[in-house]
Amino acid sequence: RSFDLVPMLAAVSEAFAASAREQRVTLETDLPAHLRMDGDVFRLRQVLDNIVSNAVKYTPAGGSVRVSASLDGDTAVIVVTDTGIGIASEDLEHVFDPLFRSTRAQEQAPGTGLGLGIAREIVTAHGGTLTVTSELGHGTTVTLRLPRSVTPES
Ligand code: ATP
Ligand code: MG
Repeated sequence: RSFDLVPMLAAVSEAFAASAREQRVTLETDLPAHLRMDGDVFRLRQVLDNIVSNAVKYTPAGGSVRVSASLDGDTAVIVVTDTGIGIASEDLEHVFDPLFRSTRAQEQAPGTGLGLGIAREIVTAHGGTLTVTSELGHGTTVTLRLPRSVTPES
């Protein structure tokens, strides 16, 4: 199924605009005019909802979140970066584990600890990768790389 990634990302940003404003977090997008690709737009929307939700809820007042998309050859690259609480290096390897939540995340906002694990499974099913880099106390960057065309196995 072919879809345009750009309106989907704009809708995700729109969905979190009110909560970001309430938290006094700046939410910005940096998107091309169009980026058509293959994939399950509903499941990828679920992935982006979780990642942007995380970025907003783990960023204290005065911080910012940026959602960007670009093309790297035949790969769509989506980057969600925040200036929030960050993740300790010893916790980074656990963020995809079911039910894992860092101590600071538990203090900052509610959650179940399931979102990122599910997100990575969906991205992997699309032939893509999901990586998280972070600096405790400074912020987190989540990078999704998705092939623009997914060829069915048969
Ligand atoms: P939910 O299942 O409702 O999404 P959650 O947001 O706690 O709950 P995940 O989205 O799976 O769970 O994230 C797992 C953990 O990774 C978080 O609890 C938090 O410790 C850490 N984390 C994820 N994104 C960020 C971020 N942007 N900044 C800081 N910590 C993060
Ligand atoms: Mg989450």
